[in-house]
Amino acid sequence: QRSNLASTLHSLDGRSYGNYKQIRGSYEFGPVTVFIDRVQVDPFASPSKVRIRINRAEAGFPTDITTERTDRIAASDFLFRVGDSFLHRNDRRSVILGRPGQEVLERTNVVIDDEGLEARLLVNLPARGRRILGHQAADILTRDVPELAQAMFVHSNLSGDDLREHVQLHRDQLELRNRLGEEGLLAFIGNGAILPRRAGDSDLPMDSSAVAFSSPASLQHTITLSSGRSLTGMAIPRGVTVIVGGGYHGKSTILRALERGVYPHIAGDGREWVITEPSATSIRAEDGRAVTGDDISPFINNLPSGTDTRAFTSTNASGSTSQAANLVEAVEVGARSLLIDEDTSATNFMIRDDRMRALIPADREPITPFVDRIRPLFTRRGVSTVLVAGGSSAFFEVADHVIALDAYVPQEVTETAHELVGVSAADLTGSVEPDSAEVGDDSDVSAPRNPAEAAAETAGEVFTTPQPRIPTAKALRPSSKTKSAKAKGLGQVQFGKAFIDLSAVSQIVDPQQTTGIAEALEYMSEIFDDRVSLTEALAEVEDMLDAQGVDGLTGNRDHPGHVARPRPQEIAAALNRFRGLHLVD
Ligand code: ADP
Ligand code: MG
Repeated sequence: QRSNLASTLHSLDGRSYGNYKQIRGSYEFGPVTVFIDRVQVDPFASPSKVRIRINRAEAGFPTDITTERTDRIAASDFLFRVGDSFLHRNDRRSVILGRPGQEVLERTNVVIDDEGLEARLLVNLPARGRRILGHQAADILTRDVPELAQAMFVHSNLSGDDLREHVQLHRDQLELRNRLGEEGLLAFIGNGAILPRRAGDSDLPMDSSAVAFSSPASLQHTITLSSGRSLTGMAIPRGVTVIVGGGYHGKSTILRALERGVYPHIAGDGREWVITEPSATSIRAEDGRAVTGDDISPFINNLPSGTDTRAFTSTNASGSTSQAANLVEAVEVGARSLLIDEDTSATNFMIRDDRMRALIPADREPITPFVDRIRPLFTRRGVSTVLVAGGSSAFFEVADHVIALDAYVPQEVTETAHELVGVSAADLTGSVEPDSAEVGDDSDVSAPRNPAEAAAETAGEVFTTPQPRIPTAKALRPSSKTKSAKAKGLGQVQFGKAFIDLSAVSQIVDPQQTTGIAEALEYMSEIFDDRVSLTEALAEVEDMLDAQGVDGLTGNRDHPGHVARPRPQEIAAALNRFRGLHLVD
């Protein structure tokens, strides 16, 4: 059959491009099957879809590390990287497998199932003008593609130690993540970790000039995993943690590492042991974004316009309202911790100093700054915060822990910071057993600073469970019949005729996740029926993804293209920024 495909392609040389469609079908190359699922109609259309597949028995694939769902994700990632380096080493530009980054993500590019291993390729079938280049096409499909399959599936690397180590690292990272949850910790940064990156546009580790991370003694933990691996580093407990330090001393770098720590990193990245609880969400100001029906009343109230901030809508939110919206939306989809950097925050959202409080009466100021809400957010809703604040001491009195960076080296300075503002750890509520105080416990909250808030706080009105937001079905079914959602690079999704700007959503780390978000919007547009809430629809997507994998997101099961799994937080971020979103009243 190999000669079969090759001879067909040779015979097509010089004929018009449309004749390529004859090669659809499957072809055997020894143990490998090549499926040509979809053939592009012209040289400028999106590339043709080709799969390569091998049975488990033929590949001699170890089953003990490829049975669990999470092991399969890691093993697929390993094969993905083997394939990628093969293609680059040999400069095979017509064959596209996708580009791996520093994170291990669940994706469609390479999958392992009960029967075998499969890689999904995109192939540009060659042309001169609109004429088929048949001899070249034969080289690509009957030589390059089978060689790639050989390199990925049949090579000794399957039984070697590298694969096993890749899977074991992933297992250990997930176990550490689970242990954090059990021990009331929200993040861990291992001693020796390399947090800074090579450049603003490179996610590779900084070279030898990087200062390796080392934990302050007071926050140091050692965790021993079931593999026997033992890790020592800084554990950040749930609650409120403030990172201070001089400009350029590495504060934002730590926060950025934590924000990436929701994904596991590959060996050699430097962030292998930076593990953050998986729902942690970065919150920033994002003026100009659209907001639809958010309850931002815990932060913004009594607008001079009289607008009801319990269902706040704007086509052009300000810095503070956009940050409030980002925060309540994150909590709505279940974020248990927030990561906030002063560099990207609206000052008036974060703090208000005493003189300003004296000058502007509380009832003339719509904004209740985050510093006044950060503790009830934790005690009432169980949401922790890690905050970078180098420019203000305002958060000292609400912090469980203050960590100071000095030339990239962290020290715990909680006591000194508390002394400066005259509080002691005992004054802070909810420092112990946050989970027990999580739901509606309004018995003991730190003193609010103005009388209006005091009333609201004691009445338990702040951070009560907000009304579920129910999108209208119509708004999410853009008129066109064809595929309506499409990723445009990392930071944008086209949905119907609208463009959704995701450039401020910093925890999208791979353009394939953006594709996943687009597919998820498409998928959810079928779920909404004027009764299903946003969080219910997201939960349905999660369940489906857990059961079927990322393949289930797309309509095309044979060859779904290249898609990675986004977190529900980022899917929600896209929906929330969609300017066509409407809610059922
Ligand atoms: P800050 O937020 O405190 O102003 P940044 O985190 O932006 O500081 O870091 C300032 C610079 O220092 C960046 O260029 C960053 O890459 C570099 N840097 C951060 N951490 C380290 C480190 N551990 N070792 C070496 N350089 C670092
Ligand atoms: Mg900074």
